[in-house]
Amino acid sequence: MTTAALIVAAGRGQRLGGAQAKQYLELGGRALLAHSAATFAGHAAVGPVRVVIAPGDEEPYRTAVAGLDLLEPVSGGTSRQESVRLGLESLADLDPDRVLIHDAARPFVAATLIDRVLTALDRGPGAIAALPLADTLKRQAPSGDIAGTLERAGLWRAQTPQGFAYPEILAAHRAAAKSVGPDFTDDAAVAEAAGLAVALVAGDDENLKITTAADLERARRLLDSRLGDVRVGSGFDVHRFGPGDHVMLCGLALPFERGLVGHSDADVALHALTDAVLSALAEDDIGSHFPPAEARWQDEDSATFVRFALARLAARGGRLAHVDLTIICEQPKIASQRQALRARLVEILDIEPGRIAVKGTTSEGLGFTGRGEGIAVQATATVRLPG
Ligand code: MG
Repeated sequence: MTTAALIVAAGRGQRLGGAQAKQYLELGGRALLAHSAATFAGHAAVGPVRVVIAPGDEEPYRTAVAGLDLLEPVSGGTSRQESVRLGLESLADLDPDRVLIHDAARPFVAATLIDRVLTALDRGPGAIAALPLADTLKRQAPSGDIAGTLERAGLWRAQTPQGFAYPEILAAHRAAAKSVGPDFTDDAAVAEAAGLAVALVAGDDENLKITTAADLERARRLLDSRLGDVRVGSGFDVHRFGPGDHVMLCGLALPFERGLVGHSDADVALHALTDAVLSALAEDDIGSHFPPAEARWQDEDSATFVRFALARLAARGGRLAHVDLTIICEQPKIASQRQALRARLVEILDIEPGRIAVKGTTSEGLGFTGRGEGIAVQATATVRLPG
């Protein structure tokens, strides 16, 4: 039994996104489209996944889905109905038994909802996610006042995914393409017109469709509320002074009468920060991922290590909430460089300046930092993970 998924991302969504189609807008660190594409691609019961895109969107599409295991996209048509039909036609070679059709504008489709639709498909040729109507329905008169109250019993709001036996829905779409009259706004309507039985399956309130800026805001809040696993990691590093004319700190070369000795470019601040992020994830430390004995890390830009740790964080669906660095040395003086160091961290970490703290301190002439033998940095990183 093969189940294919078709994700419809060919609309231009004029209410949102402006020049950029809404399916490529950023949501939680990835394109809106990538959320549902990843869910279908990662679902054990779903085989090939194809996205229907608007002609000309190849480039934003490739960026959006980088790293996901998807079929080559196909170009859609001038209406949603036509786009779905073209997508279904493109699956003919694969000849799947079933197909799940999903709107890219619904990023929060849950694996359990896909399961419910698939279970219902075992019993018939069609099944869609939908929610019974809870609000009372009013019809508006031309005056703006209420003209009447509608009976809401038995009324449901259709969502996606909508699943069908593949040959049946392909035939239904081909027939609909030949019929006159307005386009169908969902695939269940196409199936109904062809006389197919379509079951209603309990949908999901969080499976919202993003149409307006307010929807996008709600989606961001929802995503935010899912990052409840807050963790703080700490890192500490020391590098000794040696010959040189600058020290690397937070990715900046600060002119100084000596240099720092050590792994890569010896950026003691970025090393401590890398360890702080890895520690928050409980994923070992900088030395285990980038062994100092390996020659290839010699002179490496330490931003590489930070970005690696951030990629691990992103791969787990997490977000960096805050970093705090304490640079401990007598010289060079940190106070005058703080804003520059912070600005460089904004670039490397890609978070707002308000989430980055950098401060310097001395050890009052005591110990190795007090004797001017090197620089120590203490870092903390606060991350938020799903859960
Ligand atoms: Mg180090």
